[in-house]
Amino acid sequence: MSVPVLSGGCLCGHVRYEVRCEDPFVDYCHCVMCRKAGGGTVTAWIQVTPADFRVTAGEAAGYRSSERATRHFCPRCGAQLYMTDPAGKSVGVTVGTLDDPERIRPTVHGWDGARVSWLHIADDLPRFPADIPYDVPDEG
Ligand SMILES: [Zn+2]
Ligand SMILES: [Zn+2]
Repeated sequence: MSVPVLSGGCLCGHVRYEVRCEDPFVDYCHCVMCRKAGGGTVTAWIQVTPADFRVTAGEAAGYRSSERATRHFCPRCGAQLYMTDPAGKSVGVTVGTLDDPERIRPTVHGWDGARVSWLHIADDLPRFPADIPYDVPDEG
């Protein structure tokens, strides 16, 4: 059986991508930078290796949001699509830009200490006050 491929893209359709993933690591991030960059009060990310991610149409623009991360967004509509790190360790892809977000689900909350107090997601998933321990290079 082949590994599932999830497709996604920005709001205007200029940038399209594919993520190859089998049981991917998916996290909520409540950090301030994700909030500012995406405009939502929480952002969910799929983390995959660079080999399992490819842009299939258009070209995203990059913004180096910290020493640890560059955020890539559509230059036309501004949708935040994915994040890379300088070491090329992983690519984080925004769950909200998937064509079918129902195919995956988050398993952990990161930066729960920065979560806006009125946002309550009723689940029993593990919550980390800041970085998720095994996800340190991917956020910022
Ligand atoms: Zn766009
Ligand atoms: Zn974040």
